[in-house]
Amino acid sequence: MENLYEQLYEFISGLTIVDTHEHLPGREEDRPKETDVLGEYLTHYFSCDLVSAGLSKNDLERCRDASLPLAGRWRLVEPYWNAARHTGYGRSLDIAARELYGIEGISAATIEELNGRFVASRKPGHYQKTLKEKARIRTSLLDGFQPDKPCDRRFFTPVFRLDLYRGMFANGSASAYEKLNGVSPTGFDDWLEATEKTIGAALAAGCAALKIGDAYNRPLYYADTPRADAEAEYRRFRSGGKPDAFAFSENFQNYMTHFVLRLADERGMSVQIHTGLQEGNGNLLRNADPLLLNNLFLAYPNVVFDIFHMGYPFEHTLSALAKNFTNVHIDMCWAHIISPAASVSALYEWLDSVPANKISAFGGDYCFVDGVVGHSIIARQNVSRALAMKVRDGAFDIEQAKDIAQMLLIRNPERIFKLID
Ligand SMILES: [Zn+2]
Repeated sequence: MENLYEQLYEFISGLTIVDTHEHLPGREEDRPKETDVLGEYLTHYFSCDLVSAGLSKNDLERCRDASLPLAGRWRLVEPYWNAARHTGYGRSLDIAARELYGIEGISAATIEELNGRFVASRKPGHYQKTLKEKARIRTSLLDGFQPDKPCDRRFFTPVFRLDLYRGMFANGSASAYEKLNGVSPTGFDDWLEATEKTIGAALAAGCAALKIGDAYNRPLYYADTPRADAEAEYRRFRSGGKPDAFAFSENFQNYMTHFVLRLADERGMSVQIHTGLQEGNGNLLRNADPLLLNNLFLAYPNVVFDIFHMGYPFEHTLSALAKNFTNVHIDMCWAHIISPAASVSALYEWLDSVPANKISAFGGDYCFVDGVVGHSIIARQNVSRALAMKVRDGAFDIEQAKDIAQMLLIRNPERIFKLID
């Protein structure tokens, strides 16, 4: 078994893979400058495990503050770090420290040396070293297309985030409309036309998918809401002066979601949807159950739904949906560090229940680039482990396992996001 794993891991480590989802700065020069290794590594993810372990939010803010002495901040965080360092998030950072800076284990003994090497590395070329040489990524789909600030296409393929155009951040939508058309949107038809135009422009600019991230703020059930209800809400919003970010009701969001999915359906577009665990500490997890999307899967058969984070902890629900629907695909972005063990066992189960061309097995989902290296290595380990278990069981032989690995990490995302040149 160990030998099977080693053989597969060696093969999978050599693959140049596709990364389905990142939040990195789109150009290397836009990385935050006033930071150090603790500030950057506690931007997200592991910081949530530390808070879960008992670190107060005030102390977390102090630990992130690079203007304070590093040794004192380390002392503050150390007991919680040691309690959580074995999680996927913790291991990812240890791997990054080893692979990028030659430091074994982030600890009181190594933090100063690690920081020195981290600060010294903050110069052009770090994206090349991390994303290309260490993580071996062909391209990363980058959440958050900005028309006036294109991302560096050597590393990224943009994804258009839809939240603006469905009323979640309605102010931004109005100003985006103004930019595009030179006038403010007036009637509801203007709004719909603007949405269609903007999506068309994003696609023309190279966006590979649309993205819906609503599960942080509302349930993922989008009722098929009558136009009149959405339009009434739109009129109230437009006549109400300065709106706040969540001025629009769920009815408006529901209608706009169906409107956008109708466009996506006509064009056979891919739509990425956040499901499962929300980043941060504390949220309504049931809002993010992929089962809530069931009506959309039925209504829009030509949309390629790419369902994020393997739905964790609803990965078995997602398994049944992906098995049942041609248009539902499983995306393991973020999953390998949320829970390495759950990722291995889910993949092991899916290969019994879901066609292998329905699964994309890697997306780093980091805001800082070093984390992508740690995550990519854990993902390669997990895929190797699940495939080795299937070979041991006699489900297929090692050559077929290597072929499946290439589907999961390369060919499926290339097809789903039309990345083939
Ligand atoms: Zn994300």
